[in-house]
Amino acid sequence: MNNAQNEMLKTAQDLIRKTGKKLNLSQEEIDFLIQPDRVIEVKIPVKMDNGVIKSFIGFRSQHSNVLGPYKGGIRFHPTVSREEVIALSILMTLKCAANNLPLGGGKGGVIVNSEELSEGELEKLSRGYTKAIAPFIGEEIDIPAPDVNTDSKIMLWMLDEYEKTIGRKSPATFTGKPVEAGGSLGRTEATGRGGVIVMENLLKNLNKDYKTIAVQGFGNVGYYFSKIAFEKNYKIVAISDSKGGIYNENGLNPEEVMKIKKETNKVTDFKKGKIISNEKLLELKVDILVPAALENVISQKNANKIKAKVIIEMANSPVTEETYPILEKREIKIVPDILANAGGVIVSYFEWLQNKKNEKWSEEKVNQKLEEKLKESFKEIFEVSSDFKTNLKEAAFISALLKITKKI
Ligand code: NAD
Repeated sequence: MNNAQNEMLKTAQDLIRKTGKKLNLSQEEIDFLIQPDRVIEVKIPVKMDNGVIKSFIGFRSQHSNVLGPYKGGIRFHPTVSREEVIALSILMTLKCAANNLPLGGGKGGVIVNSEELSEGELEKLSRGYTKAIAPFIGEEIDIPAPDVNTDSKIMLWMLDEYEKTIGRKSPATFTGKPVEAGGSLGRTEATGRGGVIVMENLLKNLNKDYKTIAVQGFGNVGYYFSKIAFEKNYKIVAISDSKGGIYNENGLNPEEVMKIKKETNKVTDFKKGKIISNEKLLELKVDILVPAALENVISQKNANKIKAKVIIEMANSPVTEETYPILEKREIKIVPDILANAGGVIVSYFEWLQNKKNEKWSEEKVNQKLEEKLKESFKEIFEVSSDFKTNLKEAAFISALLKITKKI
């Protein structure tokens, strides 16, 4: 465990305590909410290509199933820890509740640098982890999905292993599968699309015609957010990835930038823009700033240099807790991650429903239902924010806790 992960768990628990006090929850209710129902820790022995048996450690935190089966991703990363999966499972419980999904919160992970594994070793690890947690998951119990360094191919291995272990088909136990194997159309774009839907709802409510956008991070979330916003006539003036960013005040076409990124793996090789650093991208004079890469990129260090009027938190926790009051004092509106990036889990929920009912929805139907769901969440959270005279982040927490505590 490192300090950042300990800090992440403390922050998640402190936010529940703070919101709980505002709602006059009892100490017992708060204790109930900050503790996970169960954390499973497993050893996964894998026969490596050199014949040596190496044991990996994995976790699955099941935080709360008060509103429905646990739901959350599985990540493969060297810094995975018990504290990290607990913190992330708490946030999943709140995200599902805030967005009116009949699901609870879970999260899993394996401590591994998956880049060092061969394809065969990765498959054995994915299958080994599944076998170890199989008694604790299932389509009505706990439904995993991809997360950092896991993808649709890994979900298919996991589902196959799970079905072999239980001796029957159960496609709804894993979401994020390839479309041809029961995945949902629209899932790949869902998080970015959801962010644009929420941004447009906010601008409508604020009655602002903001147009210029800077996007940090050009992976799944950053790319689809930029592409969909561009198609809706927003001007994407800056884009970055881990190697740096590009800026063009006349606007960039995200699809053209992606073509270059696919060739050279760097957005900075795109010639129709000026190269800027990731730090400078965050400080640009734009209407809307979209951190879509990492956590904690907007902190007390750069809060006073941020010039955007709106921040859409597409990454998880890109704005640190202590920074919120500084930005609010400067009247910068922040759409919190549990609303802004909920498109992914909402379409995962649609995938689960389609698998259970043996249906296949069109992409139009998925997108339309995503829009309806996010509009409803936004409206509720916006109303809570004015009723409680608080920011959208606290409002999202209040909205989620009210729904959970009603069912305890
Ligand atoms: P990804 O791996 O596809 O892309 C990450 C992008 O961030 C890459 O372009 C990478 O180059 C860039 N990046 C990495 N380090 C950077 C740095 N120091 N500065 C600038 N850019 C940097 O990941 P993703 O799926 O797009 O996820 C991005 C964020 O959104 C994460 O915080 C993730 O937890 C969150 N999120 C993702 C989803 C989803 O459905 N994919 C859902 C909810 C939340």
